[in-house]
Amino acid sequence: MTQYDLLFKGGEVIRPADGFRGPLDVAIADGRIAALAPEIPSQQAKEVVDARGKLVVPGLIDLHTHLGFELHRRVTWAEDVCPRSGVTTAVDMGSTGAFTFPWYKEHALSHSPMRLWEFINISSIGVIAIHTPYYVDHYGEYIDVDDTIRTIEENRDYIRGIKVFASSAMVGEWSLKALEAAREVGQATGLPVAVHISVEPPTLEEVLDRLGPGDIITHSYTPWNQGILDAEGHLRPAVREARERGIFFDLGHGAGSFAFDTARRALDQGFAPDSISTDIYYANVETPVKDLLTTVSKFLNLGMPLEEALAKVTVNPARALHAQELGTLQPGGPADLAVLRLEEGEYNFVDSRKETLTGRWELFCELTVYQGRIIYQNRRA
Ligand SMILES: [Zn+2]
Repeated sequence: MTQYDLLFKGGEVIRPADGFRGPLDVAIADGRIAALAPEIPSQQAKEVVDARGKLVVPGLIDLHTHLGFELHRRVTWAEDVCPRSGVTTAVDMGSTGAFTFPWYKEHALSHSPMRLWEFINISSIGVIAIHTPYYVDHYGEYIDVDDTIRTIEENRDYIRGIKVFASSAMVGEWSLKALEAAREVGQATGLPVAVHISVEPPTLEEVLDRLGPGDIITHSYTPWNQGILDAEGHLRPAVREARERGIFFDLGHGAGSFAFDTARRALDQGFAPDSISTDIYYANVETPVKDLLTTVSKFLNLGMPLEEALAKVTVNPARALHAQELGTLQPGGPADLAVLRLEEGEYNFVDSRKETLTGRWELFCELTVYQGRIIYQNRRA
């Protein structure tokens, strides 16, 4: 009798939500996880996937991306990078604001092959003209708190937070005004605020003072002077205090925001990011970011245990998104999962400053399932 649509046999399940790691078969029916058990007979499923020697993990969540958004007419699409990297949920981190969001929803979000959500930029123009003097000077003039709240209320199924730039390099003197407006929207809507940090002013302490539990710092391992380490490389006391009061720290690799040196020093002082994310877009997709599994592999080679690294791309970002049903691989939950291969060999990785790290481990994706449907399968012979 076939009661399942899809059955994964003989894989090693890693489920960061409850710390489980061990061999289990996983069955899917009607887009949900139907059963996990040591032995589920093949006859009970329409399609069987041999997962022996592979890891079966919840679908990965990339908390910081810019997908399907055109900058200088170059664009990286979700379908080109997410399925092949085990990602079933990605979050666009502020590419659009209240004025540009409706276009982005129609153009990208509504026909993404997997879940693609938005943190709406507090500036209504999003990132149009970003990295120009015009943007730096005028970012804050396009803040409209009421219109941003209205756009969120009309698009709750897509918009999961508010994004704000709080760095002089990005928005000149607008940082604190923008941050305060973002907080106002966050309080009115119950959504988290995610803050880009890179270059002072304001100081990181001034930023953290304006955040509450559940708010997010992204670019946690930036080598710039607004980062979590002081000039001597010591973790700023305000960072530890912020974590204790519930501020969430996201990686946001990006083109310029992840240095192995910062990572080593922070990890040595016991400060890992809560989530590992790519900040992927056209200028970093070739190098240094490539995709989420490459970013996770960098952490494995910096000494982070596999289970811990996987928690930072599943259950932890799910918590930041107030989406506890994601990233769990529990019966009854959505059938989002990835089949991965952990290979041992000699692999080279590059950070945002072109430093190379040679390591022994790399994760590869064999297959990705979104809501019970296979959206990627490695077709190697
Ligand atoms: Zn970004």
